Amino acid sequence: MKQQSPQTMAPDHPFLTVAIAMVVLLGLVLSATRPPGVFEDGAGTENTAERSEADEERLPATGEPDQLTVVSPDALPGIEETEIDHDGGADVTAAYPNIPNAAPLSDFLDRTLTAQVNAFEAANPGARSFVGEWGITAAAEGIVGVRTTTTETDSEETREGHSTHWYETGDGTVNGSSHLLAGQAELAELNDLVREAVADTGADPSALHPISALYDSVGFNPDGDLVVEFDSGQVAPTDVGRVHAVIDRDEAEALLSEFGLRVREAATTGTREFTVAEAPEADKDGSGAAAPGVLAPRDDSVDCADPDTKCVALTYDDGPGGRTPELLDALAEYDAHATFFVTGHPVMEHPWVVRRTYAEGHELANHTLSHPNLAEIGSGAARSDLETTQALVFRETGYTMDLMRPPYGSTNGQVAEITAELGLAQILWSVDTNDWRDRKANVVRKRALKGASEGAIILMHDIHDTTIDASIDIIRELDARGYTMVTVSQLLGTTVPGETYVDGVPEPPETEGSEESEENSEEGAVNDAG
Ligand code: ZN
Repeated sequence: MKQQSPQTMAPDHPFLTVAIAMVVLLGLVLSATRPPGVFEDGAGTENTAERSEADEERLPATGEPDQLTVVSPDALPGIEETEIDHDGGADVTAAYPNIPNAAPLSDFLDRTLTAQVNAFEAANPGARSFVGEWGITAAAEGIVGVRTTTTETDSEETREGHSTHWYETGDGTVNGSSHLLAGQAELAELNDLVREAVADTGADPSALHPISALYDSVGFNPDGDLVVEFDSGQVAPTDVGRVHAVIDRDEAEALLSEFGLRVREAATTGTREFTVAEAPEADKDGSGAAAPGVLAPRDDSVDCADPDTKCVALTYDDGPGGRTPELLDALAEYDAHATFFVTGHPVMEHPWVVRRTYAEGHELANHTLSHPNLAEIGSGAARSDLETTQALVFRETGYTMDLMRPPYGSTNGQVAEITAELGLAQILWSVDTNDWRDRKANVVRKRALKGASEGAIILMHDIHDTTIDASIDIIRELDARGYTMVTVSQLLGTTVPGETYVDGVPEPPETEGSEESEENSEEGAVNDAG
């Protein structure tokens, strides 16, 4: 038999090389675990010869079973480290790797790390120090995996966090960890497996939701088992430390995307030397809305412009409150969505409720940090108040809010200017339940139902027991009356930052030039008859 050298096969038949390596590895495992005699059939000698040659070509990946694979940076010739520029209040030392011919990766890491530092400072008035370190978790098969570890210290405590990004050397795309999963359903399935796996570690299962902000450090150990890790304080009290789950290779396999399978291949391959041959042409950012776990506050299956769909927007301010989860349960029961204008201090108190709200398709919107009258405080104070809440929600969910509601509905030209700069549209309301003043569930219920009409924005506060009690009835009744309860962004469509909106009442139908659309729309005809 003429032995084909794996070396010459490698460029054209990577999977064959891998298959051979797998057989060899399996052989190693079997010869180590099976009783002697199994291989005493004459083929053993040939096996050994082939094994040693394949071993030379393919090194085993290295690392601990409960950690992501570790690749020595020495295996990437020319790799350098760059520190981010920072001139804020906290003491910041954060660096990322610069790999020759991988500029899009460096640019992405620079932007991401800078955004993390800024959000840390904005969200923590007591921010003291931020340290960002990095490691390589894969460098093979056209993939580079970079795992960053951040250590944040504020006046309260020190937290360690991780995130892992995956770079495609061929086209310059940087993907977040949730891209390893085939889709939202697979991420949700992984979330269920992880809930079981971390049950005994001190983690709170109710803190786990299938969103990319939680699943931002996912990779593989050297055996190809899927490793998921969470930041300290993210799903368990901070003193529990790093919470992680290892999902068996076979169990995880069906959940992976094509890209995830390629990453697994790369992360289970040892690296002797890895170079990126050529820089890609364009800078691409893989973190698009299509990534599993990145949720939009709009549901494509609902069209409020459809005359048969009666949309109404329930909005809740000043929360989250202790009973907000009950409200979320009620909304889920009727497949209804709402908008939560959250305030910074309650967000700090109930971060897991904020995460759940996002994970269940509701809209999060900014209602300031400390509920000031924005029109009466200086523009610097108003801006930083809004920015802090923006950062708090971003850190919890990865979501950048694009709506805000000024406390007391108080706004002016200066507030318009600031919200325009921050990318926030101002949302007022068309129905005021005055639920903060009249703490009677029956009164709140009546006002909300009386005011409800197509396009209405109804104002309530989820920090009052009476409002929660009323809402459970309101949601059931609106559903019975044929309303579709939607987020404000769903109701209004695209909004303009800085502009003020009070409702989403549909524009009156055009009398001219609409013949064509009327002819083509059966629904329109039915509606006219009613
Ligand atoms: Zn308020």
